Amino acid sequence: MGCLFCKIAGGEIPSEKVYEDDDVVAFRDISPQAPVHILIIPRAHISGVDAAGPDAEVLLGRLLRVGARLAEKEGVGQSGYRLVINAGPDAGQAVFHLHCHLLGGRRLSWPPG
Ligand code: AMP
Ligand code: ZN
Repeated sequence: MGCLFCKIAGGEIPSEKVYEDDDVVAFRDISPQAPVHILIIPRAHISGVDAAGPDAEVLLGRLLRVGARLAEKEGVGQSGYRLVINAGPDAGQAVFHLHCHLLGGRRLSWPPG
């Protein structure tokens, strides 16, 4: 269906993967907005958090848990980090395959821009 992140998950398009298992893949963002910027995605295609049904609840939790573990592994577990899911136009969602951003390694402003 021409989905960029499906192709990355399947290895058709190269990426710098930092984690993968049967359900979840994580890779470095191509345009990092912080020293640590990783995207955590389900292998299965779901267009966004708005499209995740009750059957995806465990998977949604796994994205966050993998994010927290990767934050530790990347050395920002203590300094702090942010796990973010953009949904729809106002949030600037650009890729319509569910992904959670892990951002860390610098001071992150709040409220976000
Ligand atoms: P979002 O705005 O939440 O949809 O974020 C999409 C993210 O995907 C952006 O941070 C992009 O930099 C990132 N991105 C786009 N193409 C690639 C790619 N080929 N490899 C890694 N990250 C990508
Ligand atoms: Zn996809």
